[in-house]
Amino acid sequence: MATDCLFREDSYLKSCDARVAALTDQGGIILDQTVFYATSGGQPGDTGVLSTSTGERIPLETAIYTDAAKTEIAHLPAAGSPALKIGDAVNVTIDWEKRYARMRMHTALHLLSAVLPYAVTGGSVGDSESRLDFDIPEAGLDKDTITAKVNEIIASNAAVTIRWITDAELDANPGLVKTMSVKPPMGTGRVRLVEIAGLDLQPCGGTHVRATGEIGAVRVTQIEKKGKLNRRVRLALV
Ligand SMILES: [Zn+2]
Repeated sequence: MATDCLFREDSYLKSCDARVAALTDQGGIILDQTVFYATSGGQPGDTGVLSTSTGERIPLETAIYTDAAKTEIAHLPAAGSPALKIGDAVNVTIDWEKRYARMRMHTALHLLSAVLPYAVTGGSVGDSESRLDFDIPEAGLDKDTITAKVNEIIASNAAVTIRWITDAELDANPGLVKTMSVKPPMGTGRVRLVEIAGLDLQPCGGTHVRATGEIGAVRVTQIEKKGKLNRRVRLALV
């Protein structure tokens, strides 16, 4: 059954009440709704804790999608956790500090893609460092120049907003898709667009901060050559 993914409308939600909707053969817990971001688009699933109505606390090590259309999320508990039953009332809370750092990092990657207007072929959000891979025919990228441009956008405190469009609207505007390796999920009838005012507009299911100022200063730490047409740019929060 589809999970109501509350983080898609409000990435600042830290916890929610929910009911156990199903249990997977692998021990995953499917809830009717959740604040847990599930691993996708290069961003790891959230960690946190599930509390039962009897006061048990079950550590959750990550969350994953069970289907290609990304409609159902399974929360994976630590080994040896007590079993739950379908229908149980629970509360889930994410490790907010970790998630917020990922939101800052993830939003910074959007800025990086605005500063380097080339096709993106891959990327990942890490806890200490994140990266994007670009399809760039020539080298000559300078770490300090890119760092300065990204930090300039951060300082401008541009608004970051989401909106939904239909699959048909996205099909009519293929130029919106910057990331060649991570196609936005299609088939559910609608696609989530993330806009950084005046700078960047692309389909993205990730979690973002509300304004670029929240990212704080960042630094491009490394630019690697990964093949003839590929440059990997790494950045970190300062
Ligand atoms: Zn994003």
